[in-house]
Amino acid sequence: MITRQELRQLAQFESPGGCAISFYFQPQTPQDKSHRDEAILVKDLVRETLKRTEHNGNHQAIREDLERILTAAESLHGNHSRGKAIFVCGEKDVWRELDLPPRVGRSQLIVNSRFHLKPLVAAFAEAPRACIALVDREKARIFELQGEILTPKPELEFGRMPHVGKSDGFEGYEGGHRERYVENEVMNRFKQFAESIQLLMNRDKFEILLIGCRDEAWPEIEPHLSSAIRQKLAGRFLVDPGLASGVEVHQSATRILEKNRGSEQLDLIREVLGQAARNGRGAVGLRHVLTALERQEVQVLLVARDFQAEAVECRNCGHFDTRMVKSCVVCGQATRELSDVSDALVDLALRNGAEIQFVLSDPDLEKAGRIGALLRFRADQNTAEKVAV
Ligand SMILES: [Zn+2]
Repeated sequence: MITRQELRQLAQFESPGGCAISFYFQPQTPQDKSHRDEAILVKDLVRETLKRTEHNGNHQAIREDLERILTAAESLHGNHSRGKAIFVCGEKDVWRELDLPPRVGRSQLIVNSRFHLKPLVAAFAEAPRACIALVDREKARIFELQGEILTPKPELEFGRMPHVGKSDGFEGYEGGHRERYVENEVMNRFKQFAESIQLLMNRDKFEILLIGCRDEAWPEIEPHLSSAIRQKLAGRFLVDPGLASGVEVHQSATRILEKNRGSEQLDLIREVLGQAARNGRGAVGLRHVLTALERQEVQVLLVARDFQAEAVECRNCGHFDTRMVKSCVVCGQATRELSDVSDALVDLALRNGAEIQFVLSDPDLEKAGRIGALLRFRADQNTAEKVAV
């Protein structure tokens, strides 16, 4: 798991010697490949990468890092269902190893002056960290969900419900008393749950909460949730909290998250297109989005998942240009061609502190150039005046 802060640090990292290595491991499905094949694949990747970097001055340092990656990859056998990312730069003593949801695309190894973060961001962008609580009167089973990975956490125990005798006593007096006692006890427990889950969400920095419970329990639980927790509550699903399997929990939660994500993204696309059309806080098309990123204006970057485009990057000042010019329009120095600018876009967005959303398909965003951004402000406009209008 990775926090926004850590991601930003990785994006800000630079290796002047070009020794930043990014390694992505995509597990094969067990039925079509053996573990051995994966080991061979990683060895091949390392060998090819070494060949490509032989002319590089820091070849020796890179070789040592690649050997470390190879050793780490060999130990992935038992960890078959998860993807892996390793970011390493021996020159600056950086080694960061992360588990990923299993769909990282393909295994790859890239040596560059920056880390290659797009697959990492893509893997997590679709997978916000969610806390799932399955609640009944006696306990709450807690899970963490990120992408495909569901991890059980320590349960919140409220103790067994106290035994209450069956006799109604004289003329039903005891019966009414008993019911009130049970009602009170249940209320206290759900109140305790609401307080504990708020502490847990804050402590472990969860962005989203999902609650699974029986239908009849929900009206007893809901009133105790604070407004802060309600804001993070993405949905509720029907489940038997004591018996539900991990697979069942995963499916129910994923269904809710995907539905929510789809409608949120649609709203965001409409907002960006609307803002761009009235020359407000929106940018569409690669050229405008690149300019906004360079001016640090971007709040949310929206990009088609398979977006690809050529561009040039200045070797001196790092300015990007969508026209394939030989020299930089800012400083006049030589540029280098990028066959795909989308990695650079993601890095820039991370360094901006922007949120990144990958869009599966949207006809309006397609027409607008498959890329857009919601802006915090517009550097070329007087923002105060803009707000006042
Ligand atoms: Zn330049």
